[in-house]
Order: sequence, then structure tokens, then C-alpha cells
Amino acid sequence: MDRRTSQEWADRARQVLPGGVSSPVRGFGSVGGTPVTFRSGSGAWLTDVDGNRYVDLVGSWGPMILGHAHPAVVAAVSDAVARSSSFGAPTGVEVELGEELLRRVRAVERVRFVSSGTEAVMTAVRLARAATERPVVVKFAGCYHGHLDALLVQAGSGVATLGLPNSPGVTEGAVADTVVVPYNDRQALEAVFAEQGDRIAAVLTEAAPANMGVVPPEPGFERFLRELTTRYGALLVLDEVMTGFRVGPAGWWGRFADPEVVGAAAGWVPDLVAYGKVIGGGYPLAAVAGRAAVMDLLAPAGAVYQAGTLSGNPVAATAGLVTLQHCDDALYAHLDATADAVFGIIDGAFDEAGVPHRVQRAGSLGSVFLRADPVRTFADASDQDTDAFARFFHAMLDAGVSLPPSAFEAWFVSGAHGERELEVIAAAAPVAARAAEAGRLG
Ligand SMILES: *Cc1c(COP(=O)(O)O)cnc(C)c1O
Repeated sequence: MDRRTSQEWADRARQVLPGGVSSPVRGFGSVGGTPVTFRSGSGAWLTDVDGNRYVDLVGSWGPMILGHAHPAVVAAVSDAVARSSSFGAPTGVEVELGEELLRRVRAVERVRFVSSGTEAVMTAVRLARAATERPVVVKFAGCYHGHLDALLVQAGSGVATLGLPNSPGVTEGAVADTVVVPYNDRQALEAVFAEQGDRIAAVLTEAAPANMGVVPPEPGFERFLRELTTRYGALLVLDEVMTGFRVGPAGWWGRFADPEVVGAAAGWVPDLVAYGKVIGGGYPLAAVAGRAAVMDLLAPAGAVYQAGTLSGNPVAATAGLVTLQHCDDALYAHLDATADAVFGIIDGAFDEAGVPHRVQRAGSLGSVFLRADPVRTFADASDQDTDAFARFFHAMLDAGVSLPPSAFEAWFVSGAHGERELEVIAAAAPVAARAAEAGRLG
């Protein structure tokens, strides 16, 4: 595949953008080689600046759930832009988007719109600390909640990809009130709460961790989190930035935890939820949401300050609203079936090539770990053959399939992925799995 023009853009980019990119994982650091520069996308397909076409299994890391340039989104956004890009004042569409969230998620009574998932989680942490008048937040190793200082400890995603345990520039003070425990580890949590339960404002968790590869909660783990936090008067903050409106019409919680869906004995209700990615339909929009009693602490209803020049931006809110309006039961059934097919192909190809691997899933999200044993913690996830993944990644790319350029990221399908795309993936996977295996022996 000729990617000369991509190479030229990458060379220019390195003179202007640190590492040649605007966000780290895009830089291909962990898989090597030159990032592909894209020109356009349509449905499930991307076209790069050299005119090569790829089946997209990144979907902008989640937002493009309907596929690229979906006609309804393009039309609604064009209409919104023509009526101005921003007012810095109330608009109807942000209310409609908020109503859509409340309609979908019973755990949500109020919504504050922000521009990124990072901001949503940052606001949730501030709210939890204000509501409880306590300082400490508990997070899990390998969970990513955006790049706010307080949570940039054992944070998964790009931090995992680059092998950085932490980040320079984050002071000890900024993380002094952050406690990190292994995921799926009840005993570690019990111990932390026994020791300093009266200082803990909140436990933060990804609804299903997907930034260290996909590591779903073990049965009952999240209900345990709810019981433990309630017992100690702490809040439970659910990060659905990736899972929200991707794994079901009401996110992970609505599908796997809403007591009215799974039954009172298994269900549980979070205090705050962070949304992003799908909720903005490809535009910079995210939200913190949850119980009115906590959310109404936000200014101007309450005293907890939070603000944003572009918050609730009408173009982004329009994209989000139209996207969600197309996220119906039929779409989610399609995503599940498509993910089953994709991961079935991948699983089969690695089996055939004799490469030890585990496919792990959370609804339509999934990822592949190149190791023999299941992954239940970040330590497990880190113990895999990332070099073999890099070879697999490049072979897939050369065969016209664009995967996340890291063994620590989830793969994303869309409503536009169908039989034709599965055929391309099925043709590419055996070759790529053999490429992974070849180097493994060498
Ligand atoms: C992507 C992500 C974030 C951060 O969202 P940004 O919009 O990139 O700031 C936070 N939490 C989770 C679970 C995410 O996947």
C-alpha cells in the first residue's frame, strides 16, 4: 500500500505538533511506523490522503456509532451551523438532548453539558468532594477517566500504551488524595475503606473498563462497589464515557445494572455518571449527570463552580441528539451481531495460526489480548505480547482494516458495518494472525 502522502503529512506534523499528533495514541508509538492521515470517511470506510481505503474499527474511539458522515447527522448539523455555531446562552437543543438522556437512563435526573469526557469526570470528582466534604477518590489501576491530574495515576489508555506509570507535571499534591486499587479486587477495596473510609468521597469506575483492553467487571463486583460506598457514605461515580449509549440504549448501566432490568437483587444505582464520545455524535460534547440532590450543588443552582464558554454548544448538541435518535434497539442488535462476527473471525484466525490469545467483550465493545489466560486486572493486561500485536496491526492495516494502534484499546463497530466489511476483515485476519505468529517464533 502506497502511503507516501501520509508520510509527507507526518513529517510536516512533527514540525508543528508534539509527536506529530493532537492526542498520544494516534502517534503509533506502540506499534511503530507512520500514522495514517485521513481525508474522508463514509459509513464504515475511511479514505486516507493517498486514496487508500480502510474498514474502520476505531470509529474515532467510539463516537461514530452510526458510521462516518451519516446523512441525517450531516443534514442536521449543516442546518444548525447555518443558524450560528455558538451563542453562549441557553438553546432549545441542549434541553432536548438532556431530556433524551433522562428518558433513556432512569439513574439520571439532571445533566450538565461540558466539552470533553475529561471535563465531565473532573466535574464529577469536584461534586463528590463537595457533596461529602471529604477529599479522597478511589480509582482502579488501568481505568482511564481523561487526563485530569488527580486521576492520571495508573491510568490505562495512552498512559498504558506508552508505559508511563504516571505523568511528569502531575505533582504529588495533585494525587495525594487519589487511592489506586487493582480492578475486580474486593479485598483491596475493603482494606482501603477499613483504613480511611471516613475520608473517601467517591469510588470512580469505568462502567466496563475498556482503556486497558476490555476487562468487564466480574459478576457482582459493581453491586459490591455500591454497597461498600453506601456503607461508608461515599458516592459511586460511573464513567460511561465509552460505554454510554454504545453498549445499549441506556449504556452499560441500563443494560446490565438497572434494577428494573436485571432485578432488585442484582441491580444498583450510581450517584453520578459521566458521558462522552457517542453523546456528541463526533463533536466535542460530554456530560456529567445523576441524582438531582448532588447535581443541584452545581452553580448557579448551588455553590460548586463549573463553567464553559462552549458548553452545550448547539452544533455539538444537535449532532448528539440526532445520533441518539438513531440509536434504537435495531441498531444495538446490529452492533452486537456485528461485533460477534468480527471477534469470531479474529478468534478463529488466531486459533488457526496457533497464537495464544483471549478475546474479551463488554457488549459490542471488545479487544484481543495476546496471552493465554483471561485478563481481570491491569497487571494481567500488561502481561501480553505487544510486539505480536504490532505485527498483527500493521498486517491488518496493509490489508485495508484500520484497528486501534494499541493492544490496550477497545475496537468499535458501527451501524454501517455489514457483510462487505466482514468479508474484508475475514480476508485480512488469517494473514495478519500468521504475521503475529511469525515474529513470535523468530
Ligand atoms: C475517552 C474517555 C474519557 C475521556 O474523554 P475525553 O473526551 O477524551 O476527554 C474518560 N473516560 C473514559 C472511560 C473514556 O473512554
